[in-house]
Amino acid sequence: MNSSSILLELKKIFPAKNILIDEPMKNHTTFQIGGPADFVVIPENQKQISHLIACLPNTDFFVIGNGSNLLVSDKGIRGVVIKINNNMNKITQNNNTLICQSGALLSRIASFALKCGLGGFEFAAGIPGTLGGAVVMNAGAYGREIKDVVVQTQYIDFCGNIRQVTQHDFGYRTSIFSDIKAIITECTLSLHQKNKDEIKAEMLKLAQQRRSKQPLEYCSAGSIFKRPQGSYAGKLIEDAGLKGYRIGGAVVSDKHCGFILNDDNASFDDVMSLIKHVQSEVYKKFGVHLDTEVKICGL
Ligand SMILES: Cc1cc2nc3c(=O)[nH]c(=O)nc-3n(C[C@H](O)[C@H](O)[C@H](O)COP(=O)(O)OP(=O)(O)OC[C@H]3O[C@@H](n4cnc5c(N)ncnc54)[C@H](O)[C@@H]3O)c2cc1C
Repeated sequence: MNSSSILLELKKIFPAKNILIDEPMKNHTTFQIGGPADFVVIPENQKQISHLIACLPNTDFFVIGNGSNLLVSDKGIRGVVIKINNNMNKITQNNNTLICQSGALLSRIASFALKCGLGGFEFAAGIPGTLGGAVVMNAGAYGREIKDVVVQTQYIDFCGNIRQVTQHDFGYRTSIFSDIKAIITECTLSLHQKNKDEIKAEMLKLAQQRRSKQPLEYCSAGSIFKRPQGSYAGKLIEDAGLKGYRIGGAVVSDKHCGFILNDDNASFDDVMSLIKHVQSEVYKKFGVHLDTEVKICGL
C-alpha cells in the first residue's frame, strides 16, 4: 500500500489531530533523537486500534509509549507508529487491584495508588515510561520489577484480535511481549493496603536517591546497557576510564556512567558509535560483553 492509500485509511479511523505525517521521532523520545516516521497515530480507544490493524493488513507497525527506552535512527521509521499515551490512561480501583490503561504513566499510577492507600508500586514512580512500555521491558528499580505487581494484561495482536495473558514469562528486562508483536491496552495490578504516610515517605526517599545518582536534567534513555551478571555496567564503564567520553554530541555521563546523554544535538550515529566504543573497551579490559537495554529501532 502506498503512502496516500495508507493516509486515506487512517483518516477513516482517526480524527486529523491524531494523525501526524512525516513526524520527527525525536519529538517522541526522551533521547530527543530520531528521524521522521511516515505516520504516527495516537489512538483514543481499543476499537480504533483493532480497526487500524484490520484496515492496513500489510503495513509495518511500531508501538511506542513514552519513548523513554528508545534510540531511533535518523532515517526514521517506515510505516505507522502507534503511540499509546495519555489518550488511553484511565485508572480504576477495585479493592486491592488497579485496572490501568496501558498509556498511563507509571508516575501517575503511583500517585493514584498513594491516594487509594495501596502500596507496592512506589518503586516505579520515578521510571519515566508508560505501563505498556514497562510491561514489555519488565521495568524495575530498587529491587522490584513490574512482574511483582502485574497479574493480567490485555492486548491486541497484529491480526486485530483482543487477547489476555496472565503468564507473562518475565525475565530481566524481558517479557512475553519481547517476542510477540502486540499492542498492550490494559493491565491489572495487584497491590496491598498500606499506610499513606509510609507510601509517601518511600516515594520521596526513592525520588531523592534517583536525583542524586542519575543525570535527570539531560536527554537520555536511562541505562543504555543491561546489568551484566555479577557487576554493574556503570562501574565497568567508569573503571574502563570512559567517564565523560564523548563522540560528537553523545557523552558518557560523569554522574552515572551507565547513561549516555544527548548533550549537544547528538545524532543516532554518535550514540551508536559511543555504544560500540564502550562495549569494545569494556570487553578488552574486563572480558564482559555489555548488552544494550535501550531498544534500537528504524535501522
Ligand atoms: C531518566 C530515565 C530513567 C530510567 N530509569 C529506569 C529504571 O529505573 N528502570 C527501568 O527499568 N527503566 C528505566 N528507564 C527506561 C524506561 O523508562 C523504561 O524501559 C520504560 O518502561 C519504557 O516505557 P515507555 O512507555 O517509555 O516505552 P517505550 O520506550 O516507548 O518503548 C519501549 C518498548 O516497549 C514497547 N511498547 C511501548 N508501549 C507499548 C504498548 N502499549 N504495547 C506494546 N508495546 C509497547 C516498544 O515497542 C518498545 O519495544 C529510564 C529511562 C530514563 C530516560
